[in-house]
Amino acid sequence: MDQMKGDNYLMRGQRRRMVEDLKNKGIKDPRILEAFGKVPRHLFISKGFEEWAYRDQAFQIDCDQTISQPYTVAIQTDLLELEPGHRVLEIGTGSGYQSAILAELGAEVYSIERFSKLRDTAIANLERAGYPQVQVFYGDGWEGLPDHGPFDRILVTAAAHETPVNLLRQLKIGGLAVIPLGKAKSTQKMYRYRRNEDGSFSRTSHGLFRFVPMLKGKT
Ligand code: SAH
Repeated sequence: MDQMKGDNYLMRGQRRRMVEDLKNKGIKDPRILEAFGKVPRHLFISKGFEEWAYRDQAFQIDCDQTISQPYTVAIQTDLLELEPGHRVLEIGTGSGYQSAILAELGAEVYSIERFSKLRDTAIANLERAGYPQVQVFYGDGWEGLPDHGPFDRILVTAAAHETPVNLLRQLKIGGLAVIPLGKAKSTQKMYRYRRNEDGSFSRTSHGLFRFVPMLKGKT
């Protein structure tokens, strides 16, 4: 991926420091750290902000949304326990950065975004960064993608105010879904749901985070 258009020595250096930062904050999985070392985050944020791209911070993108903080992306990715070839549904494409991390880890990624403008930018970002295989859909994530399921993994990157049951129905037996649950404009609890052999779900909680809200409908 080092040869991708728009990457350079300076960005690679900053990226290596971001990976060190994630390591110091407790991210241990070498495959995940390697993926963060490869995906060019500066291609997923607005022009003019490239020099900030490798700080462990969320940034504003179009439509009043955000590209998640790298640490949050790393935690969610870690909780997914991804294997290469997994079919993964992501809700909230945003910039496309999280989708690129999943694709770099070998997942077959389906991602839904409710703003058509963000969908278009994310497709362009993913193409430029070297992940044209990610499939980005314009739609309402609360519905999921029933025609493309079931999925091995489901990842929600916006705050759901209630359990998105339609999504959970699209999870394979043995599959995992990582979903921040809670009120908007507050912190949300990160939950991981596992679909049991009998089709039921069990869940565990994994700390507090802050996401933009998962809204109903597309715009
Ligand atoms: N994964 C993104 C994070 C973007 S922030 C990244 O790496 O950049 C969350 C995104 O979820 C926003 O772009 C927002 O528009 C989107 N979103 C919120 N509710 C949604 C819904 N119901 N369906 C699809 N996308 C939704």
